[in-house]
Amino acid sequence: MTTRQERIQNKSIFISCVTPVFNEETLIGPFYEKLSECLSKITNRFEIIAVDDGSHDKTNEEIRKLPPTFHIKHIQFSRNFGKEIALTAGLEHATGDVVILMDIDFQHPIEIIPEFLKEWGSGYDMVYGVRKNRESESIIKRNFARAFYWLMEKITHIHIPSNAGDFRLLDRKVVDAMNSFQERTRFMKGLYAWVGFKKIAIPFEVPKRQSGKSSWGLRKLTELAITGITSFSDVPLRVWGLIGFFISLLSMIYAVYFIGYTLIYGVDLPGFPSIIVAVMFLGGIQLLSVGILGEYIARIFTEVKQRPKYIIEEKNGFDE
Ligand code: UDP
Ligand code: MG
Repeated sequence: MTTRQERIQNKSIFISCVTPVFNEETLIGPFYEKLSECLSKITNRFEIIAVDDGSHDKTNEEIRKLPPTFHIKHIQFSRNFGKEIALTAGLEHATGDVVILMDIDFQHPIEIIPEFLKEWGSGYDMVYGVRKNRESESIIKRNFARAFYWLMEKITHIHIPSNAGDFRLLDRKVVDAMNSFQERTRFMKGLYAWVGFKKIAIPFEVPKRQSGKSSWGLRKLTELAITGITSFSDVPLRVWGLIGFFISLLSMIYAVYFIGYTLIYGVDLPGFPSIIVAVMFLGGIQLLSVGILGEYIARIFTEVKQRPKYIIEEKNGFDE
């Protein structure tokens, strides 16, 4: 068995790069050229898996035009399944000793790959990029992210490092572990944390997107956040028992007080506002808790349907 260090030194390490792509026609050429150039300096064996997540621009044609020296393996989804699923498909098709996950908008700097590899060589199984700056994002998005990480930290039992994204290098062991997950509604950041293994963070500056625009609006981010919470925590489900208990306790105390009051002072008619408040409050709480039940049931529903995670329309460059 050669050690990791030796495999890096004699350039025999097999590197897979997984890149989800959605409507990025202008970036395909420049990005893959730079990436393959970088990889071919590091090693003699690499593959680049381009997962086209149902783009409706010329992304597909552009990928097909790339020369064979880039070692592109192309997976084309039948429609847009989302980045999490595109990454999943990439991981399932990657055969390398290590797998690197990257965005293709140049926001994940290619130059850091050797640094990632160095850390892998010194024994880490997962090396992940942590963004030093979030200036390229709007204030809403930044604060949203901060609130989300705070909440996740509080109510799940896993630690998700904030400001860490999908930019990472995974050892084969980790990839196999990730591939053993059967769930369809996926929150990758949670899964990276859940699988464990020896991890290290590498800080990096996030440059501006080179062209095109981010496809993560507030709605998609909210959806992802809810998936994150509901797939890693049952606190939102269980907290209602506690709230219900305290509300019942309060109403019991109030009833005792009310009985005492009536015995001493007799009945007086007013009291209508407090009834309205109580009815509205309880109605609100009940709807909220039913809504939260709904979030979980919706997810159970998608899981029990046992549908495939994704549909591949075409695959190119894979040898059977
Ligand atoms: N992406 C994808 N499917 C989607 C949305 C995005 O595969 O439904 C890809 C996109 O092409 C890019 C990466 O995921 O390579 C990151 O997307 P984006 O830059 O829009 O996200 P952000 O950097 O804002 O998080
Ligand atoms: Mg981006």
